[in-house]
Amino acid sequence: MKSFANNLEEVVLNQRELNISFEFFPPKNDEMEAKLWEAISRLKYLKPNFVSVTYGAGGSTRERTHQTIEKIINETDLKPASHLTCVGASKEEIEKILRNYWQIGVRHIVALRGDMPASSSNYQLHPNGYKYANELVEGIKKLSQENIDFEISVAGYPEMHPEAQSMQQDIDNLKRKVDAGANRIITQFFFDSDVFFRFVDLCHKNKIYVPIVPGILPVTNVKQAKHFAKMCGAKIPKWMENVFEGLDENQETRHLVAGIVATELCRILHNWGVDDFHFYTLNRSDLTLAICHLLGVRNAIAS
Ligand SMILES: Cc1cc2nc3c(=O)[nH]c(=O)nc-3n(C[C@H](O)[C@H](O)[C@H](O)COP(=O)(O)OP(=O)(O)OC[C@H]3O[C@@H](n4cnc5c(N)ncnc54)[C@H](O)[C@@H]3O)c2cc1C
Repeated sequence: MKSFANNLEEVVLNQRELNISFEFFPPKNDEMEAKLWEAISRLKYLKPNFVSVTYGAGGSTRERTHQTIEKIINETDLKPASHLTCVGASKEEIEKILRNYWQIGVRHIVALRGDMPASSSNYQLHPNGYKYANELVEGIKKLSQENIDFEISVAGYPEMHPEAQSMQQDIDNLKRKVDAGANRIITQFFFDSDVFFRFVDLCHKNKIYVPIVPGILPVTNVKQAKHFAKMCGAKIPKWMENVFEGLDENQETRHLVAGIVATELCRILHNWGVDDFHFYTLNRSDLTLAICHLLGVRNAIAS
């Protein structure tokens, strides 16, 4: 049986280059802003392919997402990807946002339907809006006639989107997004490598051939993750609950365990041919930095 050290040696000596990207969320206050920029200033040395910034439900963070994207463009060499959700917005509003993004230098959109804001149980879809993300992708693509030609990433769900009637229906939807012009699929987080490989197989069987990038979430708080996973169609395996058992009051150890668990997942994926990784950083640098470092991504060491 191979030891963990042997396995790490395999990864470190593996010459295949990794393509990494990071996801951040727009900060709500000065303290969070400082934390975000501390994370960006450390992670940028890893030379990610792109960094994406999320967009709150129903456009609730529109201004903050915009400001964060603009600051990334003005103050770093990073390539930003702006998340854009269509729920609750008219097609005209979306077009205006897209044109504005293009003008300030954004070239990559993560195109999403989004969810109803939790506060609006009676929320109605906009009468002149896009109903699903595939329609949004079509809308974005229309702008290419004017040479406003965004790179487009869309969301994929290895364990099925919670609203889908079946995995096949969800995959059919994913194919519609790709056929409409999406260049890349970024997956919802998952913790079992087989889940990802089965999803990739299913995509290939359904003639979906764009890159499928695993979304990696280093989990430090399994209780919180369980709650979040329930809402977004991901599963927390039993072994993961066991791994964190008894650590509720021990944040430092939970962090160390989180790094090991996420590194191990990435290592298995990489050994089986995956070279692209998208990290849900939660605006922290420490875990993502450590995981990337162990995977051999260390173009320059951030102090
Ligand atoms: C990588 C990633 C990034 C994300 N970033 C954000 C973010 O920044 N902000 C945010 O608010 N949320 C974000 N989300 C969450 C996402 O908005 C929600 O999961 C949302 O519920 C679905 O968005 P979608 O783009 O996948 O929707 P869609 O692809 O439109 O799918 C939504 C559901 O509708 C079904 N469906 C699609 N088309 C049809 C049809 N024609 N008939 C019947 N059913 C159909 C699908 O199977 C699925 O169940 C992100 C998710 C991921 C994986």
